[in-house]
Amino acid sequence: LISKLPNVGTTIFTTMSQLAADTGALNLSQGFPDFDGPDALREALARHVMAGHNQYAPMTGLPALREQVAVKVAGLYGRKVDAATEVTITPGATQAIFCAIQAVIRPGDEVIVFDPCYDSYEPSVQLAGGVCIHQQLSLPDFHIDWQRLADAITPRTRMIVLNTPHNPSGALIDADELERLAALIRERDIYLLSDEVYEHLVFDGREHASVLRHDELYQRAFVVSSFGKTYHVTGWKTGYVVAPPALSSELRKVHQYVSFTGVTPLQWALADFMAEHPEHISELPAFYQAKRDLFCDLLAGSRFSFTRATGTYFQLADYSAIRPDLDDVAMAEWLTREHGVASIPISVFYQSPPADLRLVRFCFAKREETLRQAAERLCAI
Ligand code: PMP
Ligand code: GLN
Repeated sequence: LISKLPNVGTTIFTTMSQLAADTGALNLSQGFPDFDGPDALREALARHVMAGHNQYAPMTGLPALREQVAVKVAGLYGRKVDAATEVTITPGATQAIFCAIQAVIRPGDEVIVFDPCYDSYEPSVQLAGGVCIHQQLSLPDFHIDWQRLADAITPRTRMIVLNTPHNPSGALIDADELERLAALIRERDIYLLSDEVYEHLVFDGREHASVLRHDELYQRAFVVSSFGKTYHVTGWKTGYVVAPPALSSELRKVHQYVSFTGVTPLQWALADFMAEHPEHISELPAFYQAKRDLFCDLLAGSRFSFTRATGTYFQLADYSAIRPDLDDVAMAEWLTREHGVASIPISVFYQSPPADLRLVRFCFAKREETLRQAAERLCAI
């Protein structure tokens, strides 16, 4: 067998969560909350299961849920989208990303991604026969180097993948940067995949610069989000794509044969909850900012150094003052085994990681008690 994905192994998320489970460490590695989604959401799911909403939903997603997404997008980003032709519900953002890439990438096409980059983009591009062109975000603040990006664009460039708020750094793209991007790709045949799964996790009063706010960029964009992140239910694996009708139509051709549709009662429950609890989204920034601040305030008493994340539920921490001799993979393992706190090394999100990278990622989507315990262990090192 000649593998189509020779470089793909088990993901770092699986590896580190497994190591945390095996060693009994606090798991601040894989990104998921250690608390549950809202009661009303889970009750709605039970209600819909018992009400018999258990057969296939329409291929594009339950109309009521697509409508709620359209209402949200209009309210937050000022864009009126047609729920029938521009919103597609998928079983998770991962599937949305895969379908968007398969829909437009042909063999030989180049897709520009920014390192450190989320692990699902490259295999999806490779399966479409495309090639990822990796651009490193500039350190220490993880921003796009616009000159290097301009230099990387070729006649074969077919897509640019944005991720804001950015996993794993927590950095944000701002509205001016979207303008620069628009100027750069104007007159070119380049699509955008905008991974905005952490769209509501933006702190310190900042605004999420969604591609949905930008008329010109939206015309060539797939904008992806995940109900799993927004409603603290990552295991529900339900996400969506907003894209103009022509792009949505191509994406749906792929989605139709990858899964056909998502899980029906989950979609009913999410639609009910979104309609009844619009405050959930407006309260999210403060909810996660309090967790970030608790964790960072406590970590200030340690030998880790860090700049507070501006978005996502991830905090990077530099360990140069503790074990400069260890690379980040070894450090993450050492922290888990010896100090009982699991994290994610970020070099695995690079094609060629900078040699002196000494950063690990902690997920702070955790109960206060978990964060306090973890910080106590990290401060004792
Ligand atoms: N993109 C990014 C940047 C993520 O962090 C995640 C969450 N793991 C996903 C996509 C996938 O989201 P989902 O679990 O809805 O597939
Ligand atoms: N997105 C999650 C993270 O960054 C992990 C999701 C997964 O395990 N694939 O930790």
